[in-house]
Amino acid sequence: MVVGIHRNAQVNVSKSALYQNINNEKQRLSNNEHLFMVVKANGYGHGAVDVAKIAKQAGADGFCVAILDEGLELREAGIDDPILVLGITRVEDVALMAKQRISVTVSSLDWLKAAEKQLMGKDLPALEVHLGLDTGMGRIGFQDKDSLKKAVDYLEQSPCLDFEGIFTHFATADSKSTDYFELQVRRFNDLVSVIKNKPKYVHVSNSATSLWHSECNGNMIRFGVAAYGLNPSAGELDLPYKLRPAMSVTTEVVYCKKVAAGRAIGYGSTYVAKDAEWIATVPVGYADGITRRMQGFKLLVNGEFCPIVGRVCMDQLMIKVPNEVKPGTKVTIVGQDGNNSITLQDIATYCDTIHYEVACLLTSRLPRKLV
Ligand code: PLP
Repeated sequence: MVVGIHRNAQVNVSKSALYQNINNEKQRLSNNEHLFMVVKANGYGHGAVDVAKIAKQAGADGFCVAILDEGLELREAGIDDPILVLGITRVEDVALMAKQRISVTVSSLDWLKAAEKQLMGKDLPALEVHLGLDTGMGRIGFQDKDSLKKAVDYLEQSPCLDFEGIFTHFATADSKSTDYFELQVRRFNDLVSVIKNKPKYVHVSNSATSLWHSECNGNMIRFGVAAYGLNPSAGELDLPYKLRPAMSVTTEVVYCKKVAAGRAIGYGSTYVAKDAEWIATVPVGYADGITRRMQGFKLLVNGEFCPIVGRVCMDQLMIKVPNEVKPGTKVTIVGQDGNNSITLQDIATYCDTIHYEVACLLTSRLPRKLV
């Protein structure tokens, strides 16, 4: 997808907000706790490489990504720090990962055996392996001590594989109720009890765990959404310190006209003007990640909330404005304008989803601008 540089529509990313959020968390950690910044999915839509560079300045010790290509993007940008792929990777890519010193998450002994076969006899650094433990997320990872022990034993005798880490992921760390979280902690402690020589990194914490259960942190955290200034619990739990949202999304009015009462707006003619109304056209749509579910949501123009009227089109949407506005007038989709503001959480609540999804859905057609 091309990046739209000849259109005034962008995702603005605040360097100081990112720096502050990450640095505040880093200050809370003890000296032996490492902060790995999670920059998967293009840094939750903020721009992975730029975010990683700022995170490094703010004290991040490494990075987590979801897929190998995201790790390679960081390496190509000159980022030399530890990188862990959190998802399962293809065995056929192990030589590339070993060469690039990109650590992998492993969930089965079979994968380790196949990887060793690929690496044997090649003049490459050992592949760094983190064993994933499924303590209740039900996604990836070893579930029982026996299979975990076999994998650990295999790793310890392998000349091509290095046992670098062990981890789990919590399903409910962002919730008021702690029963399921505690069950997962118990399962994790029970599973790791079979490991005599602990690897370099033992980690369980996403943002929510580190914010609200930091006693569990181990010696590394995987800090994601909070670094971007978003409350992982969507407000259910109070934050231990203030987070500053890093993202704003702005564009402009490209056209404005008065329509007579009874005139319809947009596909399906779902909106019909009750009176003579001023309708402004904004040059973004669902191809930019402004989803059709946002019909009726209010954007900010001159500090005033203006509803999206009619269906959101692929590349344009229409808003009802109180009076005529000139083309070039700023439209805020996320961010502050005057005394009013719109958060990613506001959009998420309106669209019945989570702020993670709203940020990730913003497509690459919107340029990311550091501000
Ligand atoms: N660790 C794992 C395994 C994840 O899948 C994720 C995100 O989905 C994170 C850490 C970061 O989570 P958060 O963005 O909630 O901090």
